[in-house]
Amino acid sequence: MQTLTNRSKQVDRSPMNFLERIYLWNIFKGMFITFKHMFKKQPTIHYPEQKRTFSPVFRGLHVLNRDEEGRERCTACGLCAVACPAEAITMEAAERLPEEENLYREEKYAAKYEINMLRCIFCGLCEEACPKDAIYLSETLAPSNYSRKNFIYSKQDLLIPNPKTETTDLEKAKGK
Ligand code: SF4
Ligand code: SF4
Repeated sequence: MQTLTNRSKQVDRSPMNFLERIYLWNIFKGMFITFKHMFKKQPTIHYPEQKRTFSPVFRGLHVLNRDEEGRERCTACGLCAVACPAEAITMEAAERLPEEENLYREEKYAAKYEINMLRCIFCGLCEEACPKDAIYLSETLAPSNYSRKNFIYSKQDLLIPNPKTETTDLEKAKGK
């Protein structure tokens, strides 16, 4: 008979001998296998004290980026929302006022920007679609939560700390 793998075994239906009938031999065999594993390298780690190194292609929580002067880079063009296959991104655009030039890099900015992390599949298409380098997926894991509404991340949750005024927070956000 043709098989998909070479792991199938013929079932032995011959009557059990004395050792097999008392089951002790099989229990010892099982314990020996367990004992052997005690000397193998542990695949588990003591999280959160120990953390694994992420793969270079790991995609975690989103960050809304600022420029070197601390101004928000997002221009609310909506390309990330259009590219998102999960329809997880919503935003509202607003015009920048003359006195807000130190806050927003472009003439238009996102007055409201939200990502629904319950919908997000961390595909990274929003990052690829963005022409302003305004959004990227960081190495931070999206934390768990008890409430569904807490998975809707607002602009304030996503914005990276200001490199001019929040240097300590920025270093912390970078994991330094
Ligand atoms: S990572 Fe993918 S699913 Fe998540 S918001 Fe970006 S485009 Fe949408
Ligand atoms: S994050 Fe980028 S793609 Fe999305 S609205 Fe802002 S500028 Fe446009």
